[in-house]
Amino acid sequence: MSNEVVVEAGRFELIFATPQLLGLEKLDGIGPKTAKRLKERGILDQGDLLLFMPRKYRKCGHFIPAGDLMRTRMSYVEFQAPIMNVRLPTPNTKQPVEVMLNYEGQYFKLIWFNLGRSRSFTSQFKSGDWIHVKGSVDYARSVPVMQHPDIDILGPRTPAPKDDYISVEPVYPSLEGVKDAILRRAQMQALERLLPELGDIVPGDVLEARDLPGVGQALSIIHVMRPQHDVEFFQKQLLRAKNRIIYEEFYTLQLKLARDYADQREAANAPQCTERELGRAVVRNLPFELTGDQQKVMGTIATEVARKLPMRRLLQGDVGSGKTVVALMSAAIAVGSGVQVAMMAPTDILARQHLKRAEEFLEGLDIELGFLGGSLGAKDKRDILAKLADGTVKLVVGTHALFSEDVKFQNLGLVLVDEQHKFGVEQRELLLAKGEDPHLLSMTATPIPRSLAHAVFGDLDLSIIREKPPGRQPIKTYLRDRSKAPDVYKYVRGRIEETGEQAYFVYPMVEASEAVPDRKNVTEAAKELAEGPFSGLRVGLLHGRLDAEEKARVMQEFSDGDLDILCATTVIEVGVDVANATMMIIESPEVFGLSQLHQLRGRVGRGAASSMCILLAGFDLTKDAHERLVSFSKTEDGFKLAEVDLKIRGPGLFLGVRQAGHAEFRFGDLAKDGELLEMARQDARRRILGEEDAS
Ligand code: ADP
Ligand code: MG
Repeated sequence: MSNEVVVEAGRFELIFATPQLLGLEKLDGIGPKTAKRLKERGILDQGDLLLFMPRKYRKCGHFIPAGDLMRTRMSYVEFQAPIMNVRLPTPNTKQPVEVMLNYEGQYFKLIWFNLGRSRSFTSQFKSGDWIHVKGSVDYARSVPVMQHPDIDILGPRTPAPKDDYISVEPVYPSLEGVKDAILRRAQMQALERLLPELGDIVPGDVLEARDLPGVGQALSIIHVMRPQHDVEFFQKQLLRAKNRIIYEEFYTLQLKLARDYADQREAANAPQCTERELGRAVVRNLPFELTGDQQKVMGTIATEVARKLPMRRLLQGDVGSGKTVVALMSAAIAVGSGVQVAMMAPTDILARQHLKRAEEFLEGLDIELGFLGGSLGAKDKRDILAKLADGTVKLVVGTHALFSEDVKFQNLGLVLVDEQHKFGVEQRELLLAKGEDPHLLSMTATPIPRSLAHAVFGDLDLSIIREKPPGRQPIKTYLRDRSKAPDVYKYVRGRIEETGEQAYFVYPMVEASEAVPDRKNVTEAAKELAEGPFSGLRVGLLHGRLDAEEKARVMQEFSDGDLDILCATTVIEVGVDVANATMMIIESPEVFGLSQLHQLRGRVGRGAASSMCILLAGFDLTKDAHERLVSFSKTEDGFKLAEVDLKIRGPGLFLGVRQAGHAEFRFGDLAKDGELLEMARQDARRRILGEEDAS
C-alpha cells in the first residue's frame, strides 16, 4: 500500500510528486498578466491547465500534399514551404502584410492585418527561407489564403520529410485575453513537464480490469495533436481517455464516501437489538401477508440492528410498495430490545398518518406512542418532550421538530426517516446525534436512479422493494387537453355518485399569480369546482399555506370519507394514503417533474378498486413536454421515469438543491455515466472496505 496515493478531499485533483513545480508562470509565454487571467477562470496552476479540456476536435491536414489541398479543401492545414516574396503595406494605409509561399508549385498566401510596418515582425520573412504554417484556409480566391496563421520560421534548412497524414486537433474554449496559441504552448509544455511527475490514484490492476488508460496517458490522448491514419481508432482512444477522467472523478468521491463509511463502522457502539418477538407480533397484527421483498428487507434489517455496527440503510420502494410497514416492524424490534425509536416525516400530515398506522399495527403490543410536530400545542409539546427525555414514550413520530435542540431522548436506538430526500444530510445527522450510534433506516419513494443514489448517498447501503402488494390494479393514465375538462368533470362526478369513490384535483399553485396568469391555482379552482361541475358534492381545499391544524383537519375529513373531492397542491405528494380515492386529475402537469408526477399518481391505486390519473395539459405544451407526458402516461415504473427525469432535468433539479452537492460533477454526467460510477464505486469500496463489501 505504501506507494498508493491518498486523496483526502474527495475532490478531483491531479496528484504530483513535487507540487512546487506547478506555478503557471514557470511556463514560457505566461507572465503575471496572463497568469492572472487564467486564475480568474479557475486555472490556478499547471495541473488545472491539464484539466482544461477541449470542447471539440477538428480534423486537419497535416503536411498534406499541395495537390490534395485544393482537392480536399481541408479547412485547417499545417505544412512547410519556402517563402517566395513579402509585400509590405504602403506607409499610412491599412494594407495588410502579405507573404507568398510556394508550396510544391501551389501558390499560397499568408496575410496579417494591422501590423503597420512593424520592423521586428516583417524582417523575419526572407525569401527562400522555409516556414512552418498552421491555420484555417480560405479557398474563396484563386490563391488559397491563411489569415494570421501560426508560424515558425525554419530558416534556409531542408524541411522534415513530408507525410500525408490527417491529424486530429483539440479545440479549446476561448479564454478572453489569452491567445489560443499561448494557451496551447503552455499546455504542451505543462504536459511534457508534468507527465513524468504525475501520480495515479487509481491502482494499476484496477485500470487493467476496467480497461482504462493511466491518467497521464489519458491526458496526452486528450491534449496532444497527433497525425492519425485512422480517425475511428482515435475516437475510440479518445472515448477511453475521457471515460478515464470521468472515472477518476467518480472514484475520488467514492473513496471518500467509502472512508466515511468505514470510519462510522469502526467507532461503532450501536445498541444491539436482538429481541424480535415484538416484530413478530406486528406481523400477526397485519391484515395482510408481507410481500417477498418486504420479508427480504426485514431479514436484512433484523440482522443489521442486532450488530454493534449501526445500520445505515436506504430503503427505496415505489409509492405504495409498503415501506411504512417495514419501518414499523423495525421499530417494534428496537422497542422490544429496550431502545427508543424516532420516525421522522417531512410533513405534519404524513407524520400523523404514520402515527395512525402505528396505532393500528402496534395495537396490543403495549408500546407507548407519541407525536411531535408543528401542529402541537404548547402544553402537549412540553408533555411529549418530558416523556421522550424520561423514556416513557418508546416510539415518537414527528416532523422537523424532532431534530430541534430541545428534544432529548433517554436512549434513542433507531431513527426512521421517511421521504429522506426531503431532508438534508445534516438534518439526518442532527437527529442521529441524539442517540449513541443509533441505527438508521431511511426511506424514499422517489425512485432515485442507482447511479445518483450511489453518488449522493454513498455512505448508505441500499435496499429496494420492487414488488407491490398483491391485488393492486394498474393506474390508467390519460393525457387530455384542457378543453376536454368538462367531459372529465362529468365522468368524475358520475363515478363519485355511483360508487362513493373519491377524487384528488391537483394544481401547481396556491393562488393566482401575475407572473403566470393562465396557470391554474388551487384556491380559485376549488371554488369554481364546488360551485360549478361538482355543486352539491363536498369539495375540500388543501395547500401548504394553511396552518398545520387546518391541514390535519381537511386531511382527516378526506380520509374519513367526509369529502368527495380534495383540491390540493403538491402537499399531498408524499405518503398520503386514502384507499378509497381512485381518481386523480392533475392540472398543468407539464410544470412538474416526472418523478413528482409519479409520486402524485401514487396517491391513487392504493386500494383494490381500479384507479385513474388524468393529466389536463395546457394548450401551450411544447413538443418536449408533450413527449414527456406521453411517456409518463405509458409507464408506471418509477425507476424508469426517474431515469428519464434525470436525463432531462439533471441531478440538481432532480434532487432539489439540498442534496445536489455531490451530484454536480465537473466531467461526469450522472445521466450518461452511471455505468462508470458503478465501477468506480465498486472499486473504491473494494479498496477501502475489502472484497465482501464492494457491492
Ligand atoms: P409506501 O410507504 O411504500 O408508499 P405504505 O407502507 O404506505 O407504502 O403502504 C401502502 C399501502 O399498502 C398501505 O395501505 C399498506 O397498509 C398496504 N400494504 C403494505 N404492505 C402490504 C402487503 N404486503 N399486502 C397488502 N397491503 C400492503
Ligand atoms: Mg410511505
